[in-house]
Amino acid sequence: MRPVRFNLNPKEAEISEAISMGKAPDGVPGDGFFATQLSSVVGLARKNSLWPLPFATSCCGIEFMATMASHYDLSRFGSERVGFSPRQCDLLMVMGTIAKKMAPVLRQVYLQMAEPRWVIAVGACASSGGIFDTYSVLQGIDQVIPVDVYVPGCPPRPEAIIDGFMKIQDLVGQESIRRRNSEKYRDLLNSYGIQ
Ligand code: SF4
Repeated sequence: MRPVRFNLNPKEAEISEAISMGKAPDGVPGDGFFATQLSSVVGLARKNSLWPLPFATSCCGIEFMATMASHYDLSRFGSERVGFSPRQCDLLMVMGTIAKKMAPVLRQVYLQMAEPRWVIAVGACASSGGIFDTYSVLQGIDQVIPVDVYVPGCPPRPEAIIDGFMKIQDLVGQESIRRRNSEKYRDLLNSYGIQ
């Protein structure tokens, strides 16, 4: 009988090559100190610890499963902590066809998330209704909640979802900590009827 053996010739892990360090924000380095803006430090911490809330209603959700699984591994970006309570998440990922009946539910989930919060519309359906130009389908989630990044495709491949995720990371890293208190941001929420 053939013996079952694994890892007969395991490769030595090249730790130094396998680990890459996050890029430090702009600032002034010195002996034992590094001076930079508070916003940059907060942005660095936030962008590398985003907690996604997947709101998946159809096929694009399957692509998200692939994005989370070992081959693509969204955990590499500090986002292995997927949550299903809006109160504990800061990145709403909307994947799939959103029927008009579902729109108030989506909005409710968004409202239950604490600030700061960001939103990705993944795929054609979430971004624009996709091929479903019908009476029952919402023609883009930006009709009910503000969206930060749109990922095109029907369905988008995991690489595209990761690309959209990295765009969110760029936004988060550069966002001023005062933005959420700004007049402009309040106007944006007001335009959606959110106080
Ligand atoms: S964009 Fe395409 S793959 Fe994604 S939910 Fe719509 S129909 Fe399905």
